[in-house]
Amino acid sequence: MERPDYYSDKKFCDNCNDYVNYLMGLDTSWCVSCGERVRLYSPDDWDHFREHLDARKNRGGRRPRKNKGKESA
Ligand SMILES: [Zn+2]
Repeated sequence: MERPDYYSDKKFCDNCNDYVNYLMGLDTSWCVSCGERVRLYSPDDWDHFREHLDARKNRGGRRPRKNKGKESA
């Protein structure tokens, strides 16, 4: 039975286009069904993840912009 938290023990295979069981290597993991390298997230999830990271990075690294609604150019 599949659970919502199966991300933790599955990785995304580009070749299968799905989250799959994988074999873990030293710094790479491989799909058990096709042998391709797998990644932690699907491209879609990865985009969301990076957006999230960028949002946090911008907030910490730059001056906070608090002028919501006010536009002074
Ligand atoms: Zn695969």
